[in-house]
Amino acid sequence: MTGKRLLLHLCCAPDGTVPWPTLAEGGYAVEGFFYGSNIHPQEEYCLRLEAVRSLVKAQKGVFHGAPYDPDRWLEAVGEWKDEPEGGKRCLLCFRLQLEAAADFAAEREIPFLATTLTISPHKDVAAINAIGAAVASSRGLSWIGTIWRKGGGFTRSVAESCRLGLYRQNYCGCLYSRRGDDSFEKA
Ligand code: SF4
Repeated sequence: MTGKRLLLHLCCAPDGTVPWPTLAEGGYAVEGFFYGSNIHPQEEYCLRLEAVRSLVKAQKGVFHGAPYDPDRWLEAVGEWKDEPEGGKRCLLCFRLQLEAAADFAAEREIPFLATTLTISPHKDVAAINAIGAAVASSRGLSWIGTIWRKGGGFTRSVAESCRLGLYRQNYCGCLYSRRGDDSFEKA
């Protein structure tokens, strides 16, 4: 693998299908990082982890994963558990994910950091980029703030994840994002 080393924070496999090859074509040596402690329940985490591993394999890349620690994530966001999706809980969740990725990159002297979060049509990309730039800068890293959903990026990611046979989730990830999901209410 040649090029400038870049750690790509993967919120999930489908969202990585466009950013990864685009960054690689741009001359970056991409390494993937999956946080995952926001994902509930553990069975769902395992499905998403396997999908991320499949994506990394398809890209012939390198995979890094954080330890799964949902209790710590729940404790961190507890104050904001009743926030609607897109509110303060989500901003803190982005920060926890990006801080974990930035710490990992800094420890391994990977100078560039990026995230797949900005491919989502539902997420606040300005807030994501502000958080990413701050956590990267505080650790001496360079933030690549591409808004991946621009130019049909999200639509292409759906097609590409179908082509690769990747698992696609139907909720954001945490316990709170499943409120109102009948299968969860009965579980
Ligand atoms: S809804 Fe998604 S972004 Fe918001 S806190 Fe839950 S997992 Fe994180």
